[in-house]
Amino acid sequence: PQPGELLLDVDKVRKTFGGLVAVNDVSFQIRAGEIVGLIGPNGAGKSTTFNLVSGVLSLTSGRVTFRGQPVGGLASREIARRGMSRTFQHVKMIADMTVLENVALGGYLRSGNGAARAMLRLDREEERRLFKEAEAQLTRIGMAAQMHELAGNLALGPQRLMEIARALCTDPAMLLLDEPAAGLRFKEKQALAEVLRQLKHEGMSILLVEHDMEFVMGLTDRIVVMEFGTKLIEGTPELVQASPQVMAAYLGT
Ligand code: ADP
Ligand code: MG
Repeated sequence: PQPGELLLDVDKVRKTFGGLVAVNDVSFQIRAGEIVGLIGPNGAGKSTTFNLVSGVLSLTSGRVTFRGQPVGGLASREIARRGMSRTFQHVKMIADMTVLENVALGGYLRSGNGAARAMLRLDREEERRLFKEAEAQLTRIGMAAQMHELAGNLALGPQRLMEIARALCTDPAMLLLDEPAAGLRFKEKQALAEVLRQLKHEGMSILLVEHDMEFVMGLTDRIVVMEFGTKLIEGTPELVQASPQVMAAYLGT
């Protein structure tokens, strides 16, 4: 993508669960090279919005357009193929496989096929390609030294980075990260933020759902704040931080 190109256009998306309006006509856009944060109190509709964008949930109404193509109604696998790659809040891995194996076989692991079956189904050529790509992405985010450790032996911070490496293997134009800083120690958050800044520097666009205000403030270009399913405000971290409305919503006061 060209810098500044409109990548993601979320236009009045809505999701109802029975009588509950979980996401109420929310709109925002993301341009190439931007890091956008989606924040708000518990139950605000962040995860639902995220799942609508990544194709995990179907839209009740509204439109999601990625790189000029409508993606509403597409399977999440197809959306990923078009360049939108997501991570999950809970790390998905096979603890007794190496970091490299977990990243290389990410797509297969995630599809629920099981690692052994995935291995059997791969021909040597494809296997070599997956491992080469995994190694390149782990190196890109500074995890080359941990490649051959068992994934289960890593602390949570490096496990989250491993997930990001896996998401990068499909060569996405945009990363969607679901609470990547949740549960991390201060140092781990700093390391994660550094990796995300570097990816942005390389032209990556990132949408992150996050609870940790401080993390979001220091990292994002723009923040979308949700409350009760609606978009409360959108703007720079400075603008959002200075908004009494946001502080009230966030602190529940
Ligand atoms: P957040 O991620 O901001 O905490 P969610 O998007 O998870 O908020 O939830 C928004 C609202 O939608 C909440 O009231 C939640 O209980 C409701 N909700 C979310 N998912 C479902 C579901 N699958 N079925 C019914 N209600 C749901
Ligand atoms: Mg949530």
